[in-house]
Amino acid sequence: MSNQLLDRVVAEIADEMAQRADRGAVASYIPELARVDPRRFGLVVIDAAGHVAAAGDADVPFSIQSISKVFTLTLALGKAGDRLWRRVGREPSGSAFNSIVQLEHERGIPRNPFINAGAIAVTDLILSGHQPREALGEILRFLQFLAGDSSIVIDDAVAKSEQRTGFRNAALANYMKSFGVLDNPVEYTLGVYFHHCAIAMSCRQLAMAGRFLAHNGQNPSTGHNVVSSERARRINALMLTCGHYDGSGEFAYRVGLPGKSGVGGGVLAVAPGNASIAVWAPGLDAAGNSHLGRVALEALTKRMGWSIFGV
Ligand code: GLU
Repeated sequence: MSNQLLDRVVAEIADEMAQRADRGAVASYIPELARVDPRRFGLVVIDAAGHVAAAGDADVPFSIQSISKVFTLTLALGKAGDRLWRRVGREPSGSAFNSIVQLEHERGIPRNPFINAGAIAVTDLILSGHQPREALGEILRFLQFLAGDSSIVIDDAVAKSEQRTGFRNAALANYMKSFGVLDNPVEYTLGVYFHHCAIAMSCRQLAMAGRFLAHNGQNPSTGHNVVSSERARRINALMLTCGHYDGSGEFAYRVGLPGKSGVGGGVLAVAPGNASIAVWAPGLDAAGNSHLGRVALEALTKRMGWSIFGV
């Protein structure tokens, strides 16, 4: 199935982004991510019929980092359903991705599943009753299944790099443990968390993996029901309100789609009923979200008329 308009818009945006001088700054607090070339840019859009429009570094794997939190949330909801909400909230945080201040005020219950503390609490739930290796295998297999691609792997160098320097995440996890929010040994939970953040995927694989969120919980090409339509709608709502940390309001204002960013410079965005979108531009803005990723998505939604708030 062809989609000439989409192909043209995606190619135009990739050309425009290649010419931009404002690229943001690559994440440096994870040493391995600081080595990524800031000139990289990839964009893949998969429409409802399954047509793939791709441009730039569409097939280069990058560190998905916090985008993995969408998939761990999906798995954890499958395991615990609404019980999950006893240990994590559903409100935007209005603070940085790794903030510790709010956690003290709110007695160790993180604001939402996408800030680091919330994602660590979600990972802990997936880990319960398993060895870390099994939990990690489950997360990785879930992504391979969703993307239809068994070649997806964890970048061990990135995981080790974060494990060596993740003092703040260790602080958040220990703090939650002191309130009884985590069930497993802190080092096990953090080990699984760092490794799922270090999964490497290309824009093509990521856009494929996100299709169920754009189509009421189902992959329209395979017919697989991944989650119920109600659950997909709710995950999208959380991505819209919390998916870009304290840049979530700005992302909704400019792009108008549910989206989840990662400090590797990737963004997964969902145009409900229309498309699953993955973009990668490693330079970040001050809130830790991909700068050109957001600019590219803003151009895409405008030209395709896909904002959920109107054309
Ligand atoms: N692994 C990163 C961290 O925990 C994820 C942050 C992000 O991608 O925004 O710091």
